[in-house]
Amino acid sequence: MAGVYVYSDNTELCGELIALARTSEQEVCAVTMSDQQGSELAKYGPDTIFVLKGQNHAAESYSGAIAKLLTDQDASLFLAGATVRGRDIAAQVAAKMKAGLISEAGSVNFCNGKISAARYMYGGLTEQVEEGKGLTVITVPSGRYAAVNNDSVKSVVVSMTVDTDPRIKITGSSPIVKEGADLSKAGRIVCVGMGFDKKEDLVIAHKLAEALGAEVGCTRCIAEDRGWMPAETYIGISGAVVKPDLYIALGVSGQIQHTFGVRDSKIIVGVNNNEKATIFGVSDYGIVGDLYEIAPLLADAIKNI
Ligand SMILES: Cc1cc2nc3c(=O)[nH]c(=O)nc-3n(C[C@H](O)[C@H](O)[C@H](O)COP(=O)(O)OP(=O)(O)OC[C@H]3O[C@@H](n4cnc5c(N)ncnc54)[C@H](O)[C@@H]3O)c2cc1C
Repeated sequence: MAGVYVYSDNTELCGELIALARTSEQEVCAVTMSDQQGSELAKYGPDTIFVLKGQNHAAESYSGAIAKLLTDQDASLFLAGATVRGRDIAAQVAAKMKAGLISEAGSVNFCNGKISAARYMYGGLTEQVEEGKGLTVITVPSGRYAAVNNDSVKSVVVSMTVDTDPRIKITGSSPIVKEGADLSKAGRIVCVGMGFDKKEDLVIAHKLAEALGAEVGCTRCIAEDRGWMPAETYIGISGAVVKPDLYIALGVSGQIQHTFGVRDSKIIVGVNNNEKATIFGVSDYGIVGDLYEIAPLLADAIKNI
């Protein structure tokens, strides 16, 4: 069955891809390796859900089976969620099919039978539009499209026994213990930058966050260089991409690698003691001053509202 095929190990992201695939006005087929995810995907209303069943339970071992499915069904496009696993599978599928791969697409467009995707280049300084030729593989990060519950389509479920790659073996598993909040869903974020002198001072950011009902994030230097906060709380091109209603940057210089991750925030407030700091160029409100003075004043003012 020709059409757009979507895969993500993250069910919500898969719902987003199904909504995106719907805009192609082609058949929409979801691919999964588990009956459970198959039944969860039905609420998003893909036309068909292919449940691939192999001997091997490692998702990465299914790339050959997915490539075969896409070839057999004459698929026009394979959309994979840009998770760690999705990127891996997308690259393997593209290589096996000798298909073009467009990674980390911010948007995908279908126009006059052509597929194009826009993605950021040079750390977000430019946007490049790429056009797919023949079967194309595209990875799409979460949050670019909204998943839509669609009861009007009764999905057809097709279970298939497939060959999996026996070279990949799961020898054990353990849950990922997340230390920080899920910033991608936060409505308000206070971000800690290198303007903080010592770890104990982060309490200032936490007090402001508490007053606002916000989560606390940080720049990469705070997480990776100083090790003051968990890696999953740093924001930017190589960290979390966020889009809160309010983002307050305390002692953050505003380098492009960081601001890439906050550009979709509704309101950006920069607090920096250097009036020439780059953060002010992307801020809706800028406060030139010492964060040690400003942040407690803001927290008190908010508490008194
Ligand atoms: C390939 C690559 C990928 C990267 N990815 C990321 C990423 O995903 N996320 C990320 O964050 N970074 C990333 N970086 C690093 C990025 O380039 C910057 O180095 C980093 O964001 C700077 O962090 P900062 O703003 O906390 O520190 P700094 O650049 O050191 O800025 C500190 C700021 O605090 C201000 N300040 C100092 N004292 C005070 C005070 N008392 N009150 C108020 N302001 C004060 C200073 O004026 C300064 O502007 C990446 C870099 C590379 C090369």
